[in-house]
Amino acid sequence: MNTLELLIRNLSKLPGVGRKSAARIAYFLLKRDESFARSLGDQILSLKQKIKQCSECGNYTEIDPCPFCTDPQRDKNVICVVEESRDVHTIESTGEFHGLYHVLQGTLSPIDGIGPEDLTISRLISRIRKGRIDEIIIATNPTVEGDTTALYIVKMLSEYDLRITRLASGLPVGGDLEYADRLTLARSLKGRTPFGL
Ligand SMILES: [Zn+2]
Repeated sequence: MNTLELLIRNLSKLPGVGRKSAARIAYFLLKRDESFARSLGDQILSLKQKIKQCSECGNYTEIDPCPFCTDPQRDKNVICVVEESRDVHTIESTGEFHGLYHVLQGTLSPIDGIGPEDLTISRLISRIRKGRIDEIIIATNPTVEGDTTALYIVKMLSEYDLRITRLASGLPVGGDLEYADRLTLARSLKGRTPFGL
C-alpha cells in the first residue's frame, strides 16, 4: 500500500470521517506546503507526549493535578462524574457548576470487554474516602452504557454517607451530553434529583 492510501485508510479511522472525507483531507494535505503538514504532525504527537490524565480526577491535562483540582475557587465538596473529558467542557459551558469533576474515561461495556478496572472508578472511591465530599452528581450520558455505569457507581458508593444525584430529565434519551443545548443542560443541572435505585 502506498503512502497516500495508507494515510487515507488511517484518516478514515477517525470519528466522523468516512473514506470519502479521508481522501479529501489527504489530497488537501498534499496541496499544502510542508510546514503545515509538519506542524499538524507535531501537534498530534504532542497530544500523546504532553497531555496526561490528571492523577486526581482523570481529566486530560498538561499539568498534574489539573487546573480544576487545584483551583481554590472550586467547591471541593461536590464531584460531578462524567464519561469523557469533553463532557467537562460541555458542563463548564453552562456556567452552572462550580465543583470538581471526575472523568471515568469511558463507560462499562461488557460486550467490548470494558470492565470497572478499565475506568477510573477506584480512583473516585479513594477521592471520596480521603475528601470531604457531600454530593456526587452522576452525569453519564442517557444511554444504555451510561445508565449501566451510573447504576454500578451508585452501588459502589452506597456504603458512603453521600448525597448522590443525577441530572434531571429533559436530556435527550440515547443522546450524548455534548449534543444537549446549553440551556437544557443548565436546567437539568439545577433540577438534579436524588438517584433512586
Ligand atoms: Zn484533576
